[in-house]
Amino acid sequence: MSAVRCSCGHLISNVSIHRRHGDIFSAINDQDGVFSEAAARIAAFCAAVKAGKRAEWLAGGGMEYAQRLSDEDVIHDILSAWWLERVLRVSECAGCGRLWIQERPKTSRYVAFSPDWRGMRSVLMSPVARQEGT
Ligand SMILES: [Zn+2]
Repeated sequence: MSAVRCSCGHLISNVSIHRRHGDIFSAINDQDGVFSEAAARIAAFCAAVKAGKRAEWLAGGGMEYAQRLSDEDVIHDILSAWWLERVLRVSECAGCGRLWIQERPKTSRYVAFSPDWRGMRSVLMSPVARQEGT
């Protein structure tokens, strides 16, 4: 969601969402096995490194581009890819409190839900931002 005009007319942009409303909100459906898949992939990477087969593992796992990356960066990319495939972005309009929820991971289609109570604002704001009054 680079920028979208809310039904109320307020413009929601990534800048205001990220800084003020912490728009990434996990909507993971398979909570029981939620981390096990990523953990297994990281463990397989670590085992390949230990066995001296790092390059082969990266090439075989669709991460040929990562040959020059550090192990930490490879693990970061494994987690990032896993995360982006499983979370839905949720953004809140600062003007009316509507929530815009991504229809599927990695798409730019969102559906809107408006709050029953018109006074509701900033439900997605991080506790840190709320304390700082940003
Ligand atoms: Zn709005």
